[in-house]
Amino acid sequence: MATYEYCCAQCGPFETRHPIGTAPDRSECPECGGASRRRFTAVHLSLMSKELGAAHERAESTRDEPEVVSEIPGRRTVRRPHPALAHLPRP
Ligand SMILES: [Zn+2]
Repeated sequence: MATYEYCCAQCGPFETRHPIGTAPDRSECPECGGASRRRFTAVHLSLMSKELGAAHERAESTRDEPEVVSEIPGRRTVRRPHPALAHLPRP
């Protein structure tokens, strides 16, 4: 199910729920019963969690403004294993 938005000429916007892809172009206004046209709006990004919103924003920005490296990255430092791992039994 998905939420679709319609707008009644007299009563204003209202929402109805339909299975995805089955929303009619017109719907009956719940207040006056008049035929109302469907409105196309942006996805409700404000309802996303903070982390998901940040990930979505980052993915969007890489399309238009990908992060560019201006110099060759330096040598990677060799990560030494944690000292506690030396005490584990070896196979
Ligand atoms: Zn109405």
